[in-house]
Amino acid sequence: MIDVDIYRYNPETDREPHMQSFFVDDDFGKRMVLDVLEHLRESDPSLAYRRSCREGVCGSDGMNINGKNALACITPVTEAAGSGKLILRPLTGMAVIRDLVVDQNHFFEQYASIKPWLINDSGTVDKELHQSAADRAKLDGLYECIMCGCCTSGCPSWWWNPEKYLGPAVLLQAYRFIADSRDTASGERLGALSDHFSVYRCRDVGNCSWVCPKGLNPMGAISDIRRTLLKTSL
Ligand code: SF4
Ligand code: SF4
Repeated sequence: MIDVDIYRYNPETDREPHMQSFFVDDDFGKRMVLDVLEHLRESDPSLAYRRSCREGVCGSDGMNINGKNALACITPVTEAAGSGKLILRPLTGMAVIRDLVVDQNHFFEQYASIKPWLINDSGTVDKELHQSAADRAKLDGLYECIMCGCCTSGCPSWWWNPEKYLGPAVLLQAYRFIADSRDTASGERLGALSDHFSVYRCRDVGNCSWVCPKGLNPMGAISDIRRTLLKTSL
């Protein structure tokens, strides 16, 4: 049997959070963490977590799995737990609503603040906006972000300054538009990031890039923003 410890907290009935132990058959070792949760919820429908696509695309089931933020649907049980326990906690740095479900409102408000859409004021909005293959390649490693929040939740600088520092996911998304040759608002976008906190609270530790389940490099995107800010201020 595999021992599974899960963080439980129901604010309507619990005075404080606690870990609850479950057991699943050894066969679950070959399956994904989300399969374990789905199985356990058949016998305990009160167990709360988010999920949607179960293909690592929607970004809903980010959680802390044996100490590392990851997506439950694409994390094999044995890879996370080895021969020990599977330990599931909510994403760090975000308030818990219930069990493994965290409040991501602030995270998505910060996302909205960087205007995550293409801005083009060249008067050609009714035409196709062409882009060279080289310019299109600059978006690789950026457009794939699914906003799961695993990186931002694992960022110590964001824990300390969540109101002022935008965090790695939002900054990677900001750079995705700054780097887009079709976007005409990069000056405005960079101006909005040029204070002491929005970008510069990153301390280059790289926890964000270490945990990203899509293999992206938010720390690198933040460095690119800082480099671009430096160039534009010369
Ligand atoms: S950069 Fe990676 S970890 Fe961060 S939100 Fe995007 S996909 Fe998730
Ligand atoms: S490298 Fe920067 S953004 Fe990434 S976890 Fe560290 S402080 Fe946060």
